[in-house]
Amino acid sequence: MCAALLGCALSAMVMPQPLAATPVDTSPPLQPTDSTVAVESTTTTTTSIPEKIPRKAKVVYRVSTKDPVVFITIDDGFTTTPALAEVIRRHKVPVTTFAMPRLVKRQKKWYLSQKKMTFENHTVNHRSLTFLSLRSQKREICRANDQLEKTTGERPVFFRPPGGNFTQLTRRAVAECGMKYLVMWNVIAEKNKLRMPAGRLNRGDIILMHYLPSTASTLELLLAQIKKNGLRLALLRDYLD
Ligand SMILES: [Zn+2]
Repeated sequence: MCAALLGCALSAMVMPQPLAATPVDTSPPLQPTDSTVAVESTTTTTTSIPEKIPRKAKVVYRVSTKDPVVFITIDDGFTTTPALAEVIRRHKVPVTTFAMPRLVKRQKKWYLSQKKMTFENHTVNHRSLTFLSLRSQKREICRANDQLEKTTGERPVFFRPPGGNFTQLTRRAVAECGMKYLVMWNVIAEKNKLRMPAGRLNRGDIILMHYLPSTASTLELLLAQIKKNGLRLALLRDYLD
C-alpha cells in the first residue's frame, strides 16, 4: 500500500506545470445554500459555514507578497531521516508538512521535535478525490483534521489534494471541513533536482517536496538556490490568513 501511495504522490512530479494542470471540473453544478452543512462548531444551532470560511476553498499556487520569501511544503510523510532533521535544524527551516495522519503519528517523535513545522491536511488515505462524492471527500478530509489535531495538538488550516487532483466539489468539501485554502505549488524540488518554471525562484513561490531518503540533500540544494536568488523562507501560516 505504501508503495502505491508513494507512486501516487510522485506522479505529481511528472505533471505538466501545475498552473496548467488544474483538473477539469467534472462536478455537478453547486446547489443553492446548503442548510445541512456540518460545522466544526461547538454550538448546536449553527447550520451554515461560519462567516470567515468561504463556501469554496480558495486555490493557491503561489502567494502574493512583497516580501522576498518562498515556502517549503513537504508531503506524504513516509521517510523521515536524521539527516533531514539536521538540515532543518541547522538552517532553521520553516516547513509546512502535508502528511497523512497515521504517518505523523507513527513518527511522532521526529515530527514534533521540528521547531518551525506546521501540520496540514493531505487526507486520511491519499485517495484521488476526483471521482468521489462530496460526502466521501469530506470523510477523507474532515477526519484528517481530527486525527492530526489528536497527534499534534493543533488543527490544520490548509488542504492539499493527493496528487494535486481536485474538483469544485473538493473546494466545497475543504471549506465545509473548516479550511479556507487549497494549497497547490508552482515549484518542485525532488531527488536532487529543482523544477522552477521561471528558471529561478521568485517571491511567493510554493515549493513541493516529499519525505524521501533524498530529501535532506535536495533541501540543501534548494537552500543554496534560495540564497542565490536573494530570498528567505517563511511559513505559509504567516502569509495566508
Ligand atoms: Zn501526496
